[in-house]
Amino acid sequence: MKHNFGAGPCILPAVVLDQAADAVRNFNGIGLSVLEISHRTPEFEAVINETQDLVRELLGVSADYSVLFLQGGASTQFSMLAMNFLQQGKKAAYLDTGFFSLKAIKEALFYGEVEIVASSKDKNYYYVPKAYQIPADAAYFHYCSNNTIEGTEMFSVPNTNVPVICDMSSDIFSRKIEVGDFDLIYAGAQKNMGPAGMTLVVIKNSLLEKIETDMASMSDYRIFRDNNSMFNTPPVFSIYVAMLNLRWLKEKGGVPQQEIENIAKAELLYNEIDRNSLFYGLADPADRSRMNVTFKAKDLDLESKFLDFATAQGMVGIKGYPSAGGFRVSLYNALPLSSVEALVKCMQDFEVEHLNKKVSFENKATV
Ligand SMILES: *Cc1c(COP(=O)(O)O)cnc(C)c1O
Repeated sequence: MKHNFGAGPCILPAVVLDQAADAVRNFNGIGLSVLEISHRTPEFEAVINETQDLVRELLGVSADYSVLFLQGGASTQFSMLAMNFLQQGKKAAYLDTGFFSLKAIKEALFYGEVEIVASSKDKNYYYVPKAYQIPADAAYFHYCSNNTIEGTEMFSVPNTNVPVICDMSSDIFSRKIEVGDFDLIYAGAQKNMGPAGMTLVVIKNSLLEKIETDMASMSDYRIFRDNNSMFNTPPVFSIYVAMLNLRWLKEKGGVPQQEIENIAKAELLYNEIDRNSLFYGLADPADRSRMNVTFKAKDLDLESKFLDFATAQGMVGIKGYPSAGGFRVSLYNALPLSSVEALVKCMQDFEVEHLNKKVSFENKATV
């Protein structure tokens, strides 16, 4: 039995995988695979419309917003949003909270000026800056609500009069949000929504009115809005599996129920990290992510030993991001509490084994 703590693409519910497998063989009993049907068929139109409806229902998206399914991952949004909303001679405000926020900043710099309103780089991004000013003349304010690599999360939305743009790739659908607090939300699908290949964009219609320039069609949000995300061939299979996954989420009680489970999973793991004498958490306790838990072994030698120990017991994807080291355990929606229980037991067993070894070594040393 494997416990999949991978950071993305990541675990999906088993029932979703079964349904997706069935549809690959025979979609809705029509005698064709979901991979073979045209996106211009009534069958696929029903899929894309239901997926949009589920996004609206589960996140509480009003008619003031458009729901788009794009390609190119969240990384394409880094430049696309700047292309649409930042012009030369203007500036945008960014909060620098880690790896992905920096990537977003780098891409925006191709299109205009960036003012970094605050950064947590001074402490390796293991906290979220709290006090900063967002300039009132900024074209928009951009931040990342969950820092997938560093393991920090922002639970409140900064107060500002400029449009708020948020990268929610790794915590969308994991907790309740007020969509009205945002002007543009984007998320790569492969963490809490479905397989890789699709990017969700929820954009306020009034923000679309602010686009001043024309640009290449594939970069223009208006083109996708006007064509129901089907200006070109959309990622048909990714959208289909996302629909199945969102149905699963709705059936279990939606985002509020999921949030309760996610809090329980995160608490269980953080409590063990804090209790266990061999490990310590990396993120500031006030800013700990519920989706990506980062920690290290106090004794560096124990890192690879624990990795081997845990791997032998079926734990998958717990190694930290290469540049960060240590461990990063992802607790996305589809991960059951029982997997966290298994990991916690693994940490406890490892501690007992290690402390026993140490005692027998010290006994020998004193003889
Ligand atoms: C994974 C991730 C990205 C990158 O997504 P791609 O789809 O690979 O481009 C960007 N931002 C955050 C917060 C992420 O977790």
